[in-house]
Amino acid sequence: MWSWPNPKSKIRNPKSNNKTLVIPSPAKINLFLKVVGRRPDGYHEIITLLCRVSLFDTVVLAFDRPTISVECAHPGVPEDRTNLAYRAASLFFEALSIHDGVAIFIDKVVPVAAGLGGGSSNAAAVLLGLNHHYGFPFDDEELRAIALKVGADVPFFLLRRAAVARGIGGDLEVYEDLTPLRVLLVCPKFEVPTAWVYKNLNLGLTNHSENLKIPNLKQDFSRAKQFLFNDLEQATIGKFPEIKTIKKLLLDLGAETALMSGSGPSVFGLFKDGQEATKAIQSIRRGARWKTFLVDLLLP
Ligand code: ATP
Repeated sequence: MWSWPNPKSKIRNPKSNNKTLVIPSPAKINLFLKVVGRRPDGYHEIITLLCRVSLFDTVVLAFDRPTISVECAHPGVPEDRTNLAYRAASLFFEALSIHDGVAIFIDKVVPVAAGLGGGSSNAAAVLLGLNHHYGFPFDDEELRAIALKVGADVPFFLLRRAAVARGIGGDLEVYEDLTPLRVLLVCPKFEVPTAWVYKNLNLGLTNHSENLKIPNLKQDFSRAKQFLFNDLEQATIGKFPEIKTIKKLLLDLGAETALMSGSGPSVFGLFKDGQEATKAIQSIRRGARWKTFLVDLLLP
């Protein structure tokens, strides 16, 4: 049974009805991330394989409010218009050409600025919820265009499927070649701003992405896992060597592979064997250094 653990929230044990909507807002991991170029405007072009995992924030929308507001008890999450969920609501009303309000409550479980896409996922949850409440005024394409204005990862969360994203986020292709895996997430307690990571990248960028093949992780996982990597690790590990320590630990504990997610600092280990994953999380928790979660890839 779902319960509302946030003492600051005005809504307790919420259930969706015509006044409120309760929306699960999952985290994501990047199973593969290659930086393929840098545009003249400074943005990096990447190719990345994204998959949602079963670690959720909960977003509650309360309707019939005069303005947009956000409440979130997590100290690292802004409650003003810089919150991505606020921005999503604001752009939604603007696209609909109406002045309306919504109260957004976020129960934050997904670690913040951790490479797990929590803010983008909250924004997508708001867009999906508002579109539902207002009787679907926007089709998928139109909603995606609003999402892209909020942030590069937001369209991915609207799709609700694993996907390969190219460019700076808008170009998405559903990825079907995944197999169910347990995911052990290890989250160091420091935050890494994404902008810092890209600024400190030192890659020999080839710009040749045409030959790049995303491995098929369903057919032969043991072979394909060798091709999983994250180009952003190098920059983040340079400043935070702890990430390398976690990767090694996960591999020593039986993970098939271990990678940093997005710009970090979260690291995930993929396990085919659930028992092995349970033993691994117990072992890491004994050290009590990091936040850990044992979750699953969310596959359709
Ligand atoms: P990304 O890789 O997309 O930059 P991330 O997954 O590493 O993001 P988020 O948890 O989305 O990290 O937070 C990134 C920053 O966005 C935080 O520093 C936070 O202050 C800000 N932020 C704005 N809105 C939200 C939100 N709804 N939830 C979490 N963070 C938010």
